[in-house]
Amino acid sequence: MATSWDAVIIGAGVNGCAIAYNLAKRGLRVVILDKTDVCAQASGQNGGGVRQSARDPRELPLAMLSVSLFSSLAEELDQDVEYVQAGNLRLCTTSEQETAMRAAVAQQRVDFGLDVRYVDRGELEALNQHLAEWVVGASYCPTDGHANPLLTTYAFARKACELGAELRTGETVTRIRLSRGTVRSVVTDREVYSTGLVINAAGIGGRAVANMVGLDFPMTPVFTEVLVTEAREPMFAQMIGTASSDFYGHQTTHGSFVWGGFVGYETFLHDGHHGGTQRPNYPEVASAICRTVLRYFPGLGELNVIRTWGGLIAQVADKVPVLGPVPEVPGYISATGFSGHGFGIAPAVGRVIGQAVLGETPDVDLSPFTADRFGPVH
Ligand SMILES: Cc1cc2nc3c(=O)[nH]c(=O)nc-3n(C[C@H](O)[C@H](O)[C@H](O)COP(=O)(O)OP(=O)(O)OC[C@H]3O[C@@H](n4cnc5c(N)ncnc54)[C@H](O)[C@@H]3O)c2cc1C
Repeated sequence: MATSWDAVIIGAGVNGCAIAYNLAKRGLRVVILDKTDVCAQASGQNGGGVRQSARDPRELPLAMLSVSLFSSLAEELDQDVEYVQAGNLRLCTTSEQETAMRAAVAQQRVDFGLDVRYVDRGELEALNQHLAEWVVGASYCPTDGHANPLLTTYAFARKACELGAELRTGETVTRIRLSRGTVRSVVTDREVYSTGLVINAAGIGGRAVANMVGLDFPMTPVFTEVLVTEAREPMFAQMIGTASSDFYGHQTTHGSFVWGGFVGYETFLHDGHHGGTQRPNYPEVASAICRTVLRYFPGLGELNVIRTWGGLIAQVADKVPVLGPVPEVPGYISATGFSGHGFGIAPAVGRVIGQAVLGETPDVDLSPFTADRFGPVH
């Protein structure tokens, strides 16, 4: 006879584990299933940015909730997750960028009350003494920051398990069975899990999982890369981005710099020339990211790169997730499609999906994230 579970979570990335933690904390019998392992995909590959600034307005309330939860996460999960709340600087190099950035921060301040402002070159120099002369100013959000994604994900997983959740790795979900349109069980390559509630937190596998219940939405994997340098004495603690979005990153608490970015090459490589989605990363891309970083931080030229890696972003057509219950399929909840910025909002995702499961009003309105925003779901 199949074991019965209150909830089956597909995917042991940061979002699946954060959801499991929130459900286990509320007394639900939960199992997390992953075809590989904890942190096997995007949650083990990302740049660690915890950012509210420059978020899509639909996602900003989630990002603001998440920042408030990150402040006490170490205490809550009994694990230092290397959370540093030292602000985010989004650097501008032209007067056109400055004009657009001033307008963007004004809107985020007025519409959402976010503590963000434009800082000109003089104030910027007081915040960060290492910038090249061509940087004219930046947006500055003092409550943004960064954290260690592996420590955070494992901390959620460990705490969920301490609270009674089960984690089963190396097990692939192949089917979700419905009865009269309602979730009844989850089938893997090993076992059948009887449940009335399945949560799709499968990252880039999320579209295939949605297809198992007859849903579809436009989501594609997009390849992106990260590099880490050798350690250096502390230089600056802010998370860095640019108005041109040509790179992002920060100096970790260990002294290494983690820099990530696209150079435009990856999409071309992704489109079939090198064997689909299972490619390694490419040395040309790391070199290009380094050249860009040095245009903004010329003093880092002596640092050696010690490791590079790539990962796939679960990119939805409008770049915000598909999040929440789907009324057409009772018992199915979506938590996928985080489109390259789903680490920073994971604590909030865990909280609001937990609230939705328990029939409470989520702290953040989930209506902008419905599966049917692209058209009928079936
Ligand atoms: C290089 C890179 C840099 C990034 N930088 C940042 C950043 O700085 N800040 C930020 O906020 N975000 C960043 N992101 C995005 C962030 O990493 C993701 O949005 C987030 O980790 C998604 O977490 P997740 O739990 O939803 O999915 P994932 O971590 O991808 O986990 C999904 C899991 O589901 C499992 N799975 C899939 N299908 C099945 C199946 N059928 N059966 C069983 N298991 C299955 C997979 O094995 C996987 O472990 C970055 C992403 C990349 C790739």
